[in-house]
Amino acid sequence: LERTFSILKPDATERNLTGAINDVIEKAGLRIVAQKRVRMTREQAETFYGVHRERPFFAELVAFMTAAPVVVQVLEGEGAIARYREVMGATNPANAAEGTIRKLFARSVQENSVHGSDAPETAQVEIAQFFAGNEIV
Ligand code: ATP
Ligand code: MG
Repeated sequence: LERTFSILKPDATERNLTGAINDVIEKAGLRIVAQKRVRMTREQAETFYGVHRERPFFAELVAFMTAAPVVVQVLEGEGAIARYREVMGATNPANAAEGTIRKLFARSVQENSVHGSDAPETAQVEIAQFFAGNEIV
């Protein structure tokens, strides 16, 4: 079974939506095999979104991701990476399909409630940034 890395972002934790989002995740056939609530440091957020360092929204994105706690997760299932991207919906909630997490809950392209890895290599790196092997069960 494949694993992917997920974040329930500050806009979701602030509105008490972690249970509602986990319900969508589980009903989609993905299993939450690791989960913890953390306050990301500036350094963690900058490393995590390093690929976007040169983008105009980078500073704002780091400020948003560190402004309140997040829930970091490892999700497991068949084709978990693609499956979760499908369940999340488009980055901009205005373009997200009905029933997706971002259509249901996101506030804007930045405050879009969830993150999910985009490829096996990034999933592996992102999981290792937040979880030790023995925390994933
Ligand atoms: P994520 O990587 O969080 O799963 P994604 O892969 O759909 O989302 P990316 O293009 O990787 O989207 O952008 C990473 C995050 O940066 C987005 O989820 C969003 O929070 C923020 N972001 C992306 N584009 C913009 C933008 N134009 N303005 C503000 N924030 C943005
Ligand atoms: Mg991305």
